Amino acid sequence: MNFNSLGLSPAILQAITEQGYETPTPIQEKAIPAVIDGRDLMAAAQTGTGKTAGFTLPILEKLSQGHRANANQARCLILTPTRELAAQIGESVTNYGKHLPLKSTVVFGGVKINPQMMKLCKGVDILVATPGRLLDLYHQNAVRFKTLEVLVLDEADRMLDMGFIHDIRKILGLLPKQRQNLMFSATFSDEVRKLARGMINNPVEISVTPRNTASTTVKQWICPVDKKQKSVLLTHLIKENKWDQVLVFTKTKHGANKLTRHLELENIKAAAIHGNKSQSARTKALANFKNGSIKILVATDIAARGLDIDQLPQVVNFDLPNVAEDYIHRIGRTGRAGCNGHAVSLVCADEFKLLSDIERLIKQLLSRKIVDGFEPVHDLPESKLNQRPIKPKKPKKPTKLGQPRQANQNNKQSEGSRHRKSKGNNWPSRRQASNKKS
Ligand code: AMP
Repeated sequence: MNFNSLGLSPAILQAITEQGYETPTPIQEKAIPAVIDGRDLMAAAQTGTGKTAGFTLPILEKLSQGHRANANQARCLILTPTRELAAQIGESVTNYGKHLPLKSTVVFGGVKINPQMMKLCKGVDILVATPGRLLDLYHQNAVRFKTLEVLVLDEADRMLDMGFIHDIRKILGLLPKQRQNLMFSATFSDEVRKLARGMINNPVEISVTPRNTASTTVKQWICPVDKKQKSVLLTHLIKENKWDQVLVFTKTKHGANKLTRHLELENIKAAAIHGNKSQSARTKALANFKNGSIKILVATDIAARGLDIDQLPQVVNFDLPNVAEDYIHRIGRTGRAGCNGHAVSLVCADEFKLLSDIERLIKQLLSRKIVDGFEPVHDLPESKLNQRPIKPKKPKKPTKLGQPRQANQNNKQSEGSRHRKSKGNNWPSRRQASNKKS
């Protein structure tokens, strides 16, 4: 199959060729004709599968056939959980639509709202947004959805994990009933399905990765090691294997900063990316990582969510994530669009329970390699595969955070943090846990 048979016009095909894409990925083969056909879509797909082009290309095709956007109106709204992901999708829209007369813009928090308002006032065909900032703009009358044709909810599972459910429901209430809906999610939990039921009609369902399994192009293993030795082991692995571009995950912002300092003292160029960094620092770190001027990007889960770095060869879990699903998201940064990737986790004895949860989720035991000179004093127990099915999570209780929010000029909070209190149980939430100083 090639792109010519998917119903895309020459202007889009030309942009695809200029991107260097030769054949559509499986999700693109399925999604593009369905979306052009006007169908709703529910797609289980991780980043790395080509899902962004899977929805962007047919949306551009459809919108190029209609009337241009009126003042302050958007014709297509793409909602994403994080600023980085919004920026990346915006970049894809610009690239794929460069031979079309369509206007697009990206809005997210953490930067000034006024320039975003200016861009919206003439109307945009495609608006890529994070939920909080979108609501702020709506409350300031900068954007309206009277002529909205298509809604895309990208990384729906992560949006719910980040506590965006109230914002999403509010946004859904602002949209015209008659519209096309596309939902993408790495995993389809019961909560995601519940949200889908309320917004999607008779969808085409696509699954390009089996539920809760990691990408098969990623070779995964763990290094059992003592906690205190992790930084030294990481330095050793980077130098020994001559790793040039590594995305390293830490559990906390503090941990990310500390590790970055350690790497720099070892003359390894590194930068940290997390919610306490300004948007411009995050953008700069990502750009430097992509252009090779820094080798190691140390990130927390939320900051790294959806990062698209072409052919990222190596991911390291410096700490295991508190939430097993995050392991799948993390290692999904490598082995993308058919390339091979490696994911190594440095696991200390304290993390045995987290390791067991991950192995249960991915339904496999991870192979172990002890590195010479780093034999742990505190043994990591042998894992046994727990094959009992994982119980669905309890729905979160609604809280007063569901009440209308005040418009916030600069939206300085990190995305999702305003909902931190919305967890209805006693477990530390993902964000609470990741904010805890290590
Ligand atoms: P995504 O899953 O949308 O984050 O895309 C992952 C990566 O695959 C991006 O770097 C895209 O540029 C790339 N990509 C998307 N579609 C194709 C294709 N058909 N051929 C080659 N690369 C692609």
